Amino acid sequence: MAADRPAVTAPERLPGADGSEHARLFVGGEWRDAASGRTVEIRDPATGELVGRAALGNRDDARSALEAAQAAFPGWAAAPADERAAILHRAAALVRDRIEAIARVLTLEQGKPLPDARKEIAFAADVVDYYAEEGRRIGGEWRPTASTAVRSLVLRQPVGVVAAIVPWNYPIDLLSWKLAPALAAGCTAVAKPATGTPLATARVIECFEQAGVPAGAVNLAIGPGHEVGDELVTNPISRAVKITGSTETGRRVMRLAARHIKRLTLELGGQTPLIILDDADLDRVVPAAVRRSYSNMGQICIAVNRVLVAGSIERDFVDAFAERARGLRIGHGLDPEVEYGPLFNEATRARTVGHIEDALARGGRVATGGRVPPGATYERGWFYEPTLLADASPEMLVMREETFGPVAAVTRIRSDDDAVALANATPYGLAAYVFGSDLERCLRIAERLEAGGVGINVNDVTELQAPFGGWKESGIGRELGPEGLMACLEPKHIRIGLT
Ligand code: NAD
Repeated sequence: MAADRPAVTAPERLPGADGSEHARLFVGGEWRDAASGRTVEIRDPATGELVGRAALGNRDDARSALEAAQAAFPGWAAAPADERAAILHRAAALVRDRIEAIARVLTLEQGKPLPDARKEIAFAADVVDYYAEEGRRIGGEWRPTASTAVRSLVLRQPVGVVAAIVPWNYPIDLLSWKLAPALAAGCTAVAKPATGTPLATARVIECFEQAGVPAGAVNLAIGPGHEVGDELVTNPISRAVKITGSTETGRRVMRLAARHIKRLTLELGGQTPLIILDDADLDRVVPAAVRRSYSNMGQICIAVNRVLVAGSIERDFVDAFAERARGLRIGHGLDPEVEYGPLFNEATRARTVGHIEDALARGGRVATGGRVPPGATYERGWFYEPTLLADASPEMLVMREETFGPVAAVTRIRSDDDAVALANATPYGLAAYVFGSDLERCLRIAERLEAGGVGINVNDVTELQAPFGGWKESGIGRELGPEGLMACLEPKHIRIGLT
């Protein structure tokens, strides 16, 4: 291995990967096989080895799950909020008790290192606890009226059956962001993971079952987006659709949901800028930028895609970033030495390579990375070296589209206005980051950025009690915080005439 390349490690043997994990559909309180009998193999993205199998449902299975949720809805909606809260707290406790087993399965099916899998699952449990409490505080209010002869009471009631559709990059967090507020609000739900990552999800659903969620209140439908997902969106039984996925999928879901005017929460793609002002502390920026460019191998909607850096510190930034990126330890997620795993699948790696080739053809330069790590072990999985592209220009794909892979591209800014204009020059608007020493200057820039979340001197915009979601083509609606619960509730105005 060349000295200037990242240290790459991998275990000879994969502990726990014996191919025995099995996920079934959960419908009306029963675990069952798909109606067609189909199953899908789940393979470790680091090795290609079999991790387990899952039942592969179709439209009929999705319909059964929706019908079960519909049947359970009146009972769950009418249950006292305290009872729902107690069940949700029990589910969160069970998830925490089983965190090691669930994290191991998540690492094996998704690829992320075990500490990242544990962190994801711990946060999911926190989300369930939070909404358990928020659900106890759903109130109503008396509103002023134009006449003394009437009274106006405004209630908030559960919207009905919720379809919770989840991608493969954060299968457990993004499940909890949807399921927990839905159940807390009194809605019932059908959860659909991505076909490639159903295994850890099934274990989490089991926690809800064993916590005492009544039969049918939570259902698990595993299957392809164009079959199971499509049915969950188009069938009139679901009254709200909460989906995290690509912007293209979001567009399709909007069209399908239009047929029955569904409530929509769309958490879609991003193209995230990181602005580094000339007074930024590079010792603080560089680790933050490296982490947010490559955590989960860049397969995160709020990953840094574009680094917009002041010309006076550009060279120092690129050198320090590249040096740090070269030291990252890549390998199998169960190896305790490993910080970064493989990409999830072939398509993601192919898109990453395509974006890099496009940038090089347009005058970009690889400052670090830009290849598959050397060594036979890495030929079996979807590994790729964390890559930094210097001398990026706006026409490059990497500056316009979401790579969803381990690539960040650097370009120079001349002024704060220039930074804002460049940052906003995208149809996306999920997250943005600003680093600098002058907080007032950072704040003024943050106020002008077209994004649902802006981090000032932090590399994450996720906060349990704050809304998470996108502007522009990054989505509609919000998850987390009270906003996540409101998306599951319908206001009802009761106007009462007095004699
Ligand atoms: P994807 O859009 O391919 O799939 C997401 C989910 O939608 C999967 O469960 C899929 O089966 C389902 N689906 C696909 N077509 C459907 C249809 N017609 N009807 C109903 N469901 C359908 O996305 P992915 O590749 O799994 O995930 C990556 C994408 O997710 C990226 O674009 C990323 O930015 C985005 N993402 C966004 C956020 C956010 O909060 N905004 C968070 C994580 C990921």
